[in-house]
This record gives sequence, C-alpha cells and structure tokens, in this order.
Amino acid sequence: MSSNVHALAPLLAWHQVERPKRADVEAAVRTIIRWTGDNPEREGLIETPARVTRAFEEVFGGYAHDPAVILRKSFDETEGYDEMIALRGVRFESHCEHHMAPIIGRAWVAYVPNGRVVGISKLARLVEIYAKRLQIQERLTAQIANTMEEVLQPRGVGVVIKATHHCMSARGVRKPDTDLVTSRMLGCFRDNPDVRREFLGMTD
Ligand SMILES: [Zn+2]
Repeated sequence: MSSNVHALAPLLAWHQVERPKRADVEAAVRTIIRWTGDNPEREGLIETPARVTRAFEEVFGGYAHDPAVILRKSFDETEGYDEMIALRGVRFESHCEHHMAPIIGRAWVAYVPNGRVVGISKLARLVEIYAKRLQIQERLTAQIANTMEEVLQPRGVGVVIKATHHCMSARGVRKPDTDLVTSRMLGCFRDNPDVRREFLGMTD
C-alpha cells in the first residue's frame, strides 16, 4: 500500500459516513448518564449532554480539516537553506480509538527541505489536525510523516511521538508512569544514520 493511501484513507472514510444530528448526540449522552445510574433530568446534569457534545466537537475537530491543504502554502525564498528543520516537543491531546480515552503527548517533527519550506506553525497545525481524531499512536505518527512527505516532497522526514495513554494509565492495567514512543523516518532520515542521529539527539 502506498503512503498516499495511508494518509488519505481516514478522511475519505469519514466523508462516506453520514453524520448524526446534534440532538441525536445529546440523546446518546443522556442514555449514558442513565446507564451510569444517575438521572439526566436533575439540575446538575441537565446541561451536560449539550456540554459534552460541544466538547466532542472540539476534541474531534480534526475531521473537518484537510492537513494537506494546511501544508500546501509553502515558500522557496530560503537562500538555498538545506539543513534540518525541527519543531520539538509539540504538545497534543488525542483520543484512542479503542476506548475514546485521552492520549497526552508530544511530537517532534522534522524535515530536510528540498527547496521549499513551510511556516513552522503549519507543522504544529498538522499535528493538531491528526491528533483531534480517533487515533492509535502508530497511525498518528505515520500520518504526520506521510503528509509531510507527500506535500512538501522534502529530502527526508522524521517524526517521533512520546505519549501516555489514559486507557492504560488510569484504568485497565494501570501503569501511570509509562509512555509509548513511536517514530517514522522517511528519505534521508531513514537512509542516512547521521541525519537520523542528529534528529534523535533532539528528542530527549
Ligand atoms: Zn485505548
């Protein structure tokens, strides 16, 4: 499967899904409240379904944006800059697709340009758009790297993510002090040990 398919598949899948109305989502939250044993009609809970729906709208807002569009605005007046560009420790909050529990972490995003560079805030935005979807960390890592490779066509891309998964730290096996480290290296980050080492040296 090409990297192109990896990056675009979730977005296409989302467009094929018919979205329920807001009232349906609020009704679903009321059902969950009733299922816990509480009364969704009592004063403290009456506004909760609307609040939860608004919160979901924010934390899953990444589906409404195309990350490739964000990166397409690049510039080439760089005086031939051809060294590594690394944005370090971008904080993000995502949700695991297995439990809808928070994944809290940081991303290190780097590339070696091939003429064109992109505004650094766009790299942070790229992380955010993919994070604000239902995710597994491995795919989040790959999607960020693949999109950079496809849109910027740089000499190489490196992405490292370190994150804690609340489904594991706060419930289930309860291992609060572990984090999961994932990486994806493309182009010179994969082929050139010096480039790889330089990047990994920035991720401590
Ligand atoms: Zn999980």
